[in-house]
Amino acid sequence: MYPTLYADPAKTAWIDATTKDLGTFGEQHRTELDVANRANKFPRELYRELGRLGYLGPLVPAEYGGLGGGVAEYAVIAEEVGRHGLVSGQIAAQGQRWLLDWGTDEQKDQWLRGIATGEIVFSECISEKNAGSSFKAMKSIAVRDGGDWLLTGSKTHINLGADCDVTLFYAMADEGLTCFLVDMTLPGIRTHVTRAIGLRLIRTADVEFEQVRVPDAARLGPAGEGLQTFLSTFNISRLGNASELIGLGRRSLALALDYATQRQVGNQMVTDFQGIQWTVADAWTALQAASLARDDAAVAHARGEDIALRTTTAKKLAIDAAEQASDAAYSLVGGHGLYVDTPYTDIVNDIKVLKVAGGSNEIMRNYIARRVLNEPGRAGLA
Ligand SMILES: Cc1cc2nc3c(=O)[nH]c(=O)nc-3n(C[C@H](O)[C@H](O)[C@H](O)COP(=O)(O)OP(=O)(O)OC[C@H]3O[C@@H](n4cnc5c(N)ncnc54)[C@H](O)[C@@H]3O)c2cc1C
Repeated sequence: MYPTLYADPAKTAWIDATTKDLGTFGEQHRTELDVANRANKFPRELYRELGRLGYLGPLVPAEYGGLGGGVAEYAVIAEEVGRHGLVSGQIAAQGQRWLLDWGTDEQKDQWLRGIATGEIVFSECISEKNAGSSFKAMKSIAVRDGGDWLLTGSKTHINLGADCDVTLFYAMADEGLTCFLVDMTLPGIRTHVTRAIGLRLIRTADVEFEQVRVPDAARLGPAGEGLQTFLSTFNISRLGNASELIGLGRRSLALALDYATQRQVGNQMVTDFQGIQWTVADAWTALQAASLARDDAAVAHARGEDIALRTTTAKKLAIDAAEQASDAAYSLVGGHGLYVDTPYTDIVNDIKVLKVAGGSNEIMRNYIARRVLNEPGRAGLA
């Protein structure tokens, strides 16, 4: 659902082609995708194929093998990924944003093309056992050693941590929070696959760094400016989260409607009950509202405006809408949906993960409350 983006004549044909293409990809590979997801496996070949088709590099200029698009293209691809249960390119898109905003020419030459085409798998090593929502407790350290750095720390919950070729490692240096692009073949790195309930196509891992030696050229951005590098990417990637959530909600509701319009109960179809129709109306309007907020943020970004409040609002609305839609799906399908290894269960689990990962619902609400309380006039409340 792209209520505003679709109204832009310059984008309509591309959105139509993309939604069709990714829908076909999902149909062709449904069984492989479902088997991999339920087995907690990263389907690298399908990921590469998405890269070859141009869907992993939405933000990367064409000269580096990307689509050369903007936030709108990124959002459309992410929503269709959720809508068709595909392998998420969300982590790759974040890698692109980091490199484009902060990378040196050498770093871009080394990593950007591969990340955009799916040949290189990227991950981000930020969270630790005691440092999730807040960086203050981060224990990973980066210590200068001559012209090099030695990196040590234990990271957890890392999507593609055991499958990636390069990771962005955040650690505390003398100057403060600093991040490094680390080649995963370097000595001193160990990974252990973990089993999250959702987003298992980009499965998680614990990643241990023990005195990993990297040159200063691996540092991304200035030492001590880790928070700035983090925010410049996450302000935009929240829209990717929001879009995937909207897509997941749409998928759940669409599957349930397919079933319920053909399911006879007594002498009526399920969708003939008015109580069910209201449930559908409520779920659809929530998805539409989230889509409008997401599109608004994408358009504001293209105008060069600060979009932090808009992206945060979009993610919060998308979490609520996706949960409402997946809940409504159970009202439509009844016992048929209440088994493991059904798409309804997979979707609920993916939504629960996206409610926390990439900035939790509570952190979104903290930020929105802060902005509203600090600037009630701009929020229309004074
Ligand atoms: C499946 C999955 C994939 C992930 N992928 C990655 C990844 O690829 N790379 C990476 O670095 N990290 C990743 N994460 C980590 C994710 O970013 C963190 O889980 C998230 O930041 C929350 O941190 P936490 O789990 O430690 O919760 P905590 O920080 O311990 O918080 C616990 C609860 O308290 C709430 N809370 C925290 N602070 C506040 C507050 N100030 N006010 C109100 N409520 C608050 C939180 O929202 C949460 O519900 C992933 C997590 C999961 C589950």
